[in-house]
Amino acid sequence: MGAGEGLFSGVLSKSAVVPRVARDALRSVFRMIYPPTCAACTRMIGAEGALCPECWRDIVFIERPYCEILGIPFVRDHGENIVSAEAIADPPPFDRLRAAASHQGVARKLVHRLKYQDRTELARLMALWMLRADDGAVSACDCIVPVPLHCYRFLRRRFNQSAELARHLARAADKPLLAGTLLR
Ligand SMILES: [Zn+2]
Repeated sequence: MGAGEGLFSGVLSKSAVVPRVARDALRSVFRMIYPPTCAACTRMIGAEGALCPECWRDIVFIERPYCEILGIPFVRDHGENIVSAEAIADPPPFDRLRAAASHQGVARKLVHRLKYQDRTELARLMALWMLRADDGAVSACDCIVPVPLHCYRFLRRRFNQSAELARHLARAADKPLLAGTLLR
């Protein structure tokens, strides 16, 4: 930033209070006309980027007991560090995989909206679910690296949903985001 820019922003700082008040008032009016709705349905709710109680109840979050490698939920608890038959029969090239929720109902709808309907604002909500399901992996990691999108698909979709999730996950976990590290 040059000296001129610093002076300019200093001059603006007092008068910027008025536009902020006007902006807040405009936002309040906008919310009165268009109140926040559930991210999955059209029911009105109290906050933006959240789910109504009905949709929230539909989400099947994956919790223990599950396979320590693949994260596949078990019907019964077989004890600690139990691995699924799938992971034994076909060991994956990674240490562990975790999923936030079962890919069905409202969760499936949200994934579809993020990927194919440009609903990138859903990434923040879903990243918080990922953090909840991380099993300590995120807090122990050095950085967050999103899975890259093929350039043709990126041009068609105009954003990488994995990068959107990674951006919010990195921010929530206070970890560095290495967005351009992997190339497809
Ligand atoms: Zn809903």
